[in-house]
Amino acid sequence: MSTQRAYEDLIGRWKELQLLESCGAVLGWDERTYMPRGGAAHRAEQHALLAGLAHERATATEVGELLSRIEEGDRHFTPDSAPAVNVREIRREYDRRTKLPRSLVEAHAKATTLAEQAWQEAREKSAFGLFRPHFEEVLRLTREVAEALKTGGSAYDALLDRFEPGETSRNLKRVFGALRDELAPLVAAIVDTGREPDASILTRDYPVAKQTAFGVAAAAAIGFDFERGRLDETVHPFCTGIGPGDTRITTRYDRNRFAQAFFGTLHEAGHGLYDQGLDSAHSGTPMADAVSLGIHESQSRMWENFVGRGRAFWTHFFPKARDEFPAALADVSPDAFHFAINHVRPSFIRVEADEATYNLHILLRFALEEALVEGDLAVADVPGAWNERFEKDFSLKPPDDAHGCLQDVHWSAGLIGYFPTYTLGNLYAAQFFESARGDLGDLDGQFAKGEFGPLLGWLRDRIHLQGKRYPAPELVEAVTGKPLGHRALMTHLKARFGPLYGV
Ligand code: ZN
Repeated sequence: MSTQRAYEDLIGRWKELQLLESCGAVLGWDERTYMPRGGAAHRAEQHALLAGLAHERATATEVGELLSRIEEGDRHFTPDSAPAVNVREIRREYDRRTKLPRSLVEAHAKATTLAEQAWQEAREKSAFGLFRPHFEEVLRLTREVAEALKTGGSAYDALLDRFEPGETSRNLKRVFGALRDELAPLVAAIVDTGREPDASILTRDYPVAKQTAFGVAAAAAIGFDFERGRLDETVHPFCTGIGPGDTRITTRYDRNRFAQAFFGTLHEAGHGLYDQGLDSAHSGTPMADAVSLGIHESQSRMWENFVGRGRAFWTHFFPKARDEFPAALADVSPDAFHFAINHVRPSFIRVEADEATYNLHILLRFALEEALVEGDLAVADVPGAWNERFEKDFSLKPPDDAHGCLQDVHWSAGLIGYFPTYTLGNLYAAQFFESARGDLGDLDGQFAKGEFGPLLGWLRDRIHLQGKRYPAPELVEAVTGKPLGHRALMTHLKARFGPLYGV
């Protein structure tokens, strides 16, 4: 069989696998939006069957044979060409899935199911002791996963690689350390000013139907295509790319919390723009897949924060908001509104954090989970280590573990190595945005006129249409000319909060 034939066979199989997985995505979307509670048990069986079928196909010996035949084949694909990228990424995925023994995958799945239940109760009662033995078991199995997946780097690197291929804990320590050194003092300086916006502006009466219409209009204005996507309501907002032409996003409404639904919509629409911008000519192959969680998050954070919380964005949208919500906004100036949506305030809960303090939450989690995986921190010592670090960075003392180390679901679900992707998203977004500004000129002038097409087009060409051509560290260098660093994000945060707080 020629290399070309083997490649075509491999791609055919992979596209079928992606089709199968996209069926699971539809079921997952339905489960989180409209499925009645009574459907849970049957849905779990559907998921298990699909997951089993997908695993069989993804790890079939034929896939391994085809990969070997292509790799040792008579002709080689040009590096970074679509076939070369597809083969590289399918190999990565095949190795990842075949390296893990089935017994370990099953033990891990069972342990995390139990741990999530224990975590929920532990968080409700703020009793770390209830979660501790489960967390120890999840950590033990996750370290086994790391050992099985390891290819030279540290155990933590192997876990990180599942979400952010090519990134290393060593590099993260460097960049996150530099970020923390400048960010913690900036937050402290902001707090010291004692200045506060009138945040009550955002908790006035915002009828939900009008919030929906306003959010849909804003998502459409930045380029989200409602012919090829839709927006629904859920408790926990998410975005799922079901396939070409079908991207689903969700948000959550509260009549007295305008910012929650609106910025949630912009955030998920940012994820959705990435999925809608993937190259349909390569659908079902890695060339039409997102690079990493961090790069995906860079797109959502860019539209939510860099664009959506900017003064220029509201030059365009504030008059419309005032028309839509006259009772809430008639007596509010655009500047007062802009200050309110950029309120910096150290707080205990990550998901409620503002754009500046958010990263300090992530840096803390990264430091702790890295130490856990490398054996430098025991699970029993997590609450103490958490509180000590939290006081250092936030000058606040968590009142209990529910407001501290028990607040996030990730560790119970075995998602260790996942947290860094949130801050990576912010760092990437800052570098991309800085480069886009360099290339496109007066972005603020464009936003003020409601023109978002130039920025979206820039992102499409350089990021969305590239699929997995470059791993994130290479993509960032290719697009911005610089490796990952903290400088662009700090410049952005200082430019945003300096004028508002006089720091
Ligand atoms: Zn996100």
